[in-house]
Amino acid sequence: MTTHQNLPSKICLACGRSFDWRKKWAKNWDEVKWCSERCRAQRQSPRDELETKILELLAKRAFHSTICPSEVARSLRNDDWRALMEPVRQAGRRLVAQGKIDITQGGQVVDATEAKGAIRFRLRR
Ligand SMILES: [Zn+2]
Repeated sequence: MTTHQNLPSKICLACGRSFDWRKKWAKNWDEVKWCSERCRAQRQSPRDELETKILELLAKRAFHSTICPSEVARSLRNDDWRALMEPVRQAGRRLVAQGKIDITQGGQVVDATEAKGAIRFRLRR
């Protein structure tokens, strides 16, 4: 895991990744919500729909079973569901930050902001 020199960090409301304090935010760090201009521009996107869908699909499964982000994407779109994969992963990371789900790889809970490759979602105990 990378160390961040004890700088304060927060979770971006759009992409769900953690980001560190920067000098340009010295005056308004408390109000900073997004890690980048790109994420700020996304703030009007219907991202809550994705979060709701993830929780809805997990609620239908046996407790503590996992779902793949592609199941979420496919449930929303028949064609071109691949375009939804990264938004779904981002929604998953936001749910992790809210303490609602865990992201797992090979059955182990992994650090949501650093996980690479195939991930699955699981309701948090
Ligand atoms: Zn972001």
